[in-house]
Amino acid sequence: ALTAGIVGLPNVGKSTLFNAITQAGAESANYPFCTIDPNVGIVEVPDYRLGKLTELVKPKKTIPTAFEFTDIAGIVKGASKGEGLGNQFLSHIRQVDAICHVVRCFEDENITHVSGTVDPISDIETINLELILADLETVSKRLLRVEKMARQKDKEAVAEQEVLSKLKDGLEEEKPARAVEFTEEQQKVVKGLHLLTSKPILYVANVGEDELLEADNNLNVKLVREFAATENAEVIVISAKVESEIAELEGEEKEMFLEELGIKESGLDQLIKATYQLLGLATYFTAGEQEVRAWTFRKGIKAPQAAGIIHTDFERGFIRAETVSYDDLTEAGTMNAAKEKGKVRLEGKDYLVKDGDVIHFRFNV
Ligand code: GDP
Repeated sequence: ALTAGIVGLPNVGKSTLFNAITQAGAESANYPFCTIDPNVGIVEVPDYRLGKLTELVKPKKTIPTAFEFTDIAGIVKGASKGEGLGNQFLSHIRQVDAICHVVRCFEDENITHVSGTVDPISDIETINLELILADLETVSKRLLRVEKMARQKDKEAVAEQEVLSKLKDGLEEEKPARAVEFTEEQQKVVKGLHLLTSKPILYVANVGEDELLEADNNLNVKLVREFAATENAEVIVISAKVESEIAELEGEEKEMFLEELGIKESGLDQLIKATYQLLGLATYFTAGEQEVRAWTFRKGIKAPQAAGIIHTDFERGFIRAETVSYDDLTEAGTMNAAKEKGKVRLEGKDYLVKDGDVIHFRFNV
């Protein structure tokens, strides 16, 4: 399963946020594909469409889709030099598919900041630098090998050498790999290197509980936004403390509390949605009388692979995907009405599944 890693310096609010995630989180029993690990929190993906489909189909149960956050504690300055738990930390980051970087934007004299003052940009740069240095080592090692092959006029090696040199220059200027520009062909080479700084990233600005509504006036948040813009990265503003309170509530209680706070959606829900996007994920639905259920797929997959997410038998024996878009279905009002309007398509094995598709798979056993 895909997972997003939560990183950040000590005392920025990572554990508080991660506890909110596990507190609000789903039982792994419903999601057998999820890892059972104390550092992994399973979250259900909020999706208003699931509620609408439930009203429409009136199934016995409704099951949202889920994915994982991994808590990656322990980064400190010098991690790339293998000090302390540094190496372990980097190897954990290597395994995640996207990074949520928590940045301290709240002021609190009682809570020490590792470098003495709250300075979000310096914090971001401290962590980014460790990742950049680790990547620089990966790239330099590879470059030494490839240069030898390139001297023998190996065409692929020559092409790779060009990519590696460009990467090395960028990293030496303290640019993350994701900010170095490459052609589509070169991107494939970069991907093969599994660099830490080419993983998609978003920043989580952790503000004080009383600052949530006026977060845009918070200078620290402004600085994080400016920094993120240079990387085309998104920023989610949360108060980890408030989230840990919200996570203890459910249903109406939760809605009332959010109303009191003056917010529509919890920071955690915003973070879940943004991370889902960041991971390149989308949702299709199955909607039967037994259950209405959301399924996560990676954008770009075809109907048989999407069927395989439910069960390998569905993929092996795939015949057709009876498909209607969420919009067409809700506009028609019922599945039969959608059929009568000709909105339900029979799609074959080359069909690219789209976000919001409601699918009934037909297959041979
Ligand atoms: P970590 O080291 O990054 O995991 O940070 P923690 O989650 O352990 O938080 C460090 C301290 O900051 C704890 O005492 C938290 O209660 C406190 N903290 C976290 N978020 C907030 C916040 O939004 N406001 C305030 N005042 N304190 C916070």
